[in-house]
Amino acid sequence: MTEKDFLLQDEAYARLVAWAERLPHAILLHGPRGVGKLQLAEHFARRMLCESRSTDIQPCGRCNCCNWFLAGNHPDFRLVEPESMARTSASEEGAEEEGGSGGTKRKPSIEIRIEQIRELNDFVHMGSHRGGRRIALIHPAEDMNVPTANALLKNLEEPPPQVVFVLVSHRPARLLPTIRSRCVQVPVAVPGRARASRWLESQGVKDAASWLAFAGGAPLLAIQFAQSELGEKLAAWLRAVERNTPDAIEPGSDREALEPLVDLLQKHALDRALLGFGQASKYGGRLMTGPGPKTHPMPIEWLRYARELGRRRLLARHPLNPRLFAADLLGTYPGVER
Ligand SMILES: [Zn+2]
Repeated sequence: MTEKDFLLQDEAYARLVAWAERLPHAILLHGPRGVGKLQLAEHFARRMLCESRSTDIQPCGRCNCCNWFLAGNHPDFRLVEPESMARTSASEEGAEEEGGSGGTKRKPSIEIRIEQIRELNDFVHMGSHRGGRRIALIHPAEDMNVPTANALLKNLEEPPPQVVFVLVSHRPARLLPTIRSRCVQVPVAVPGRARASRWLESQGVKDAASWLAFAGGAPLLAIQFAQSELGEKLAAWLRAVERNTPDAIEPGSDREALEPLVDLLQKHALDRALLGFGQASKYGGRLMTGPGPKTHPMPIEWLRYARELGRRRLLARHPLNPRLFAADLLGTYPGVER
């Protein structure tokens, strides 16, 4: 196994591969954001399609199937993601085609579109190219509206032979109950700190331990923070509200930063609340940047703020006005004087 293949979720992987002879037709991998669920799902799909006869639990990395998979063109595999996440240019072209009047480009969808599920339905009903399994990976599965989810459900209810659906979800509670009940659920936990740090170092991340702490233990979030301006920006915002200087923050119209900001503030507030109530902190208090606001908000205030952020989480994806949204989040931070 190369460093590129270094798996964050080796235990969950071993569990999945152990099912190889009698795979469920639908599997739901769920767990916190940034812990390696997609990496796990892709590695597992690659192993299930690998044509090596070896009993090794890892894909061989040499057969045609492994090569196609790594090149992103295995004929018996489909990855369905919202256009806004797509790594391939094909779907971007698709998004431009239906650009509406006057040739204006349509924005890439942040949800999985029903057309994508219809295409997937064609794929699963087509014969296998290699005479074996076909695998459909849907990520993140909660990013489907009800009609889209229902289009998928038909296939989960009457699965074509030799087809395996792998659904990946950060928020399984948002899936249709009928979808959840058709899947064998596999929880995916935050990986151990040592493993996560080793993985981050293998990816060339400097200061891996601090970024991992800042990301609440989620290594993919940590790498995103470390390798973009986002991490520094969020850390600076957090310091500013703690010092009661939210006006020093210029949120701009940076939509990309809003969801991670809500996530970070919520974890942070929850930890402060737990510590305030004399309990162990969930994120190890490692997110905290300093002693906290001078006004020492009561634990109940932190809890209320954390709950309020939970409510606003959904709005963070498409706020009417990103600047106002961020200003409001930061301005209502406990201890900030208004
Ligand atoms: Zn192979």
